[in-house]
Amino acid sequence: MTTSPYAVNVATLINRPGTMRELELDVTVPERIGEGMLYFDKGAVLEIDLRLESLVDGVLATAEVSGTLTGQCSRCLQDLAEPWSGTVTELYSFEEDESVEYLVKNDLLDLEGPIRDAVVLELPFQPLCEPGCLGLDPETGEKLTEPREEPEAAIDPRWEQLKGLLESGAVEGDADTGSDAEADAESSEDRG
Ligand SMILES: [Zn+2]
Repeated sequence: MTTSPYAVNVATLINRPGTMRELELDVTVPERIGEGMLYFDKGAVLEIDLRLESLVDGVLATAEVSGTLTGQCSRCLQDLAEPWSGTVTELYSFEEDESVEYLVKNDLLDLEGPIRDAVVLELPFQPLCEPGCLGLDPETGEKLTEPREEPEAAIDPRWEQLKGLLESGAVEGDADTGSDAEADAESSEDRG
C-alpha cells in the first residue's frame, strides 16, 4: 500500500478521548495543487504544524500550513513566488456515516483533501506581480513601466488604408442619403 505523504498515523489517539498530540511535518507536494496561474508546484514543500485531538467519535486535526506558491503574473507573465499560509480544521471520524466526509483509516488520517480544498479556494484567479502591473508592451513584448501612450501609428495598417480611401473620396457614403430623406419626410409631416 502506498502511503500519501499527507497521511499521519494516529494509532495512539484512538479510543483515548481527551488526548492531544502536536507535531510538525514537511510535506513535499507530490502533485501540483491549483489549476490557475498561481499554484503549489510538484516538489514544493508545505510546512505543517499539526494539532491532533482525540474525541469520542474521531480525531480533530488542526493544521497550520505554509509554503511558497509559484506561477506567473497574469498581466506581464513575470515569475512569481508568493508565500501562502492558512489553517485547516477537519474532523476525521472512526466510524463511517452519511454525514462524515473524512475517516481515520488503518490508523491513518490523510490531510491532502482538506489542504487542497483550502488552498484552491484561496488562490487568486488573476495573480499580479504588483497591484498596478501594466502588463506587456504589445509591440516590444517588454514589461511596461509607465502607461502606454496610444500613438497614431498603432492603428491597424488595414484601417489606415481604408482611412486613406475615405479621405480621397474613393468610397462614396451612399448610406447617408437614405436617412436624410427620411428625416426630411418626418419634418415635413410635422409642419403639415
Ligand atoms: Zn506583472
